[in-house]
Amino acid sequence: MARQVRVRFAPSPTGEPHVGNIRTALFNWLYARHMGGVFILRIEDTDVARKVEGALEAILASLRWLGLDWDEGPEVGGPYGPYVQSQRLKLYEEAARKLVEGGDAYHCYCSPQRLQEMREEQTRRKQPTGYDRRCRHLDEGERARAKAQGIPPVVRFKMPLDGQTPFDDLIRGEVTFANETQDDFVILKSDGYPTYHLASVVDDHLMEITHVMRADEWLSSTPRHVRLYDALGYEKPLFAHLPIILGPDRSKLSKRHGAVSVLHYRDTGYLPEAMGNFLALLGWSLDDHTEVIPREELIRHFSIERIGKAGAIFSQEKLAWMNGMYIRQMSQEALAGRILPTLEEALPAAVSRPLSGEYVHAITPLVQERLKTLADAPPLMDFFFLEELEYPHEELVQKGLDRDSTRKALEAALGRVAALDAWSAPSLEDVLRPLAGELEMKTGQLFGAIRVAVTGQRAAPPLFETMAVLGRDRCTRRLRAAIERLVSR
Ligand code: GLU
Repeated sequence: MARQVRVRFAPSPTGEPHVGNIRTALFNWLYARHMGGVFILRIEDTDVARKVEGALEAILASLRWLGLDWDEGPEVGGPYGPYVQSQRLKLYEEAARKLVEGGDAYHCYCSPQRLQEMREEQTRRKQPTGYDRRCRHLDEGERARAKAQGIPPVVRFKMPLDGQTPFDDLIRGEVTFANETQDDFVILKSDGYPTYHLASVVDDHLMEITHVMRADEWLSSTPRHVRLYDALGYEKPLFAHLPIILGPDRSKLSKRHGAVSVLHYRDTGYLPEAMGNFLALLGWSLDDHTEVIPREELIRHFSIERIGKAGAIFSQEKLAWMNGMYIRQMSQEALAGRILPTLEEALPAAVSRPLSGEYVHAITPLVQERLKTLADAPPLMDFFFLEELEYPHEELVQKGLDRDSTRKALEAALGRVAALDAWSAPSLEDVLRPLAGELEMKTGQLFGAIRVAVTGQRAAPPLFETMAVLGRDRCTRRLRAAIERLVSR
């Protein structure tokens, strides 16, 4: 029987997770779900100096927002824990010791100052920078002397001095690195913390990871990992390095191209479904033309074979378009459920809370077509909730009319609607549409004035439906207030 797929997302808590990080998480998650495998979250926090307060929480929040649930990891636990590397230091120490004992690694006593001078010298001579292997060649006596001085050593891995390190990558095919381009890298620092290389290899082995799917930037670390696997006698996982993400100008995606933090998109009204769909297409495709692919379909069709090698372009416009698509496709009820918390948060304090879910549900279809993000909802919908509308009274006066004719028109409209038995969109239309002719004005002029009076806006959702939802009381009060503004000035 084939082994169960076990993949991991292994972020370092060094800042707000950006779209590249979360694309990696998504691809691993999709692959696990597609294969009926296990998705593991492992926190790689051994670079103490780069740790950022709150970063871990932001990672968890990003995954939760996108619905990327993990089967093993922080908070949920699992049989291979702990899943936080700073709680696993003993395991890395043991592996490093084993490598030193086996002659595959050695203690290095070079001071940071010496290393820096060495690098400066290499740079001056235009040589590639890298450790010159001085401590690899220490004899017994030199080693004993360095030890006696009490210098805390680091442990370095012995890379082969010549030859090549080839490996297969599921996306790139065979990749080969010349060993002379690799130096003897540190695997254990002097404070006992492992470097990324050692920790990730040890954990990928102990956690029985079958596929290492990660960002393209780690490709150049893979020859080191391959050598570590071999030296430790571990079976290697399969590797898949995801294509780089580019901005529209085809340079590596960065803050220069706009927001890259995933939580920024959550906070500015993007739907997780749209974001997930958008991220899935950054390097993977279903068939070269289908764009809107719901989550279940992504799971059903996801494959490593259809991940491309070429850089994937991150386009904000496409994301905004995708978000609009998802908003329009959503059921009114589901959309209302998303809009409600946004309104709760963004409407002025004067609007009393909690808002009525039923009322929000009634308004939602009126704005659904016009929303690009959920953040568009509060400014489009606030007049449904406010008691007093604020707008310059000139807005009431439509092209071709003056204050007087506008006031008369609004008075007539008020008279008609106040007399209505049933307050509904069709009955409002029945009395207001003929009124324009009677007043010898265009419907656009009459409706425009009424629209500003009842919504405070020139462009608003369909007028009669809007008035129906607003209700008789609010509408007649607002018409009266508008008339008032036109006389009192
Ligand atoms: N901790 C690394 C990162 O933050 C993980 C690299 C890997 O997946 O091996 O990207």
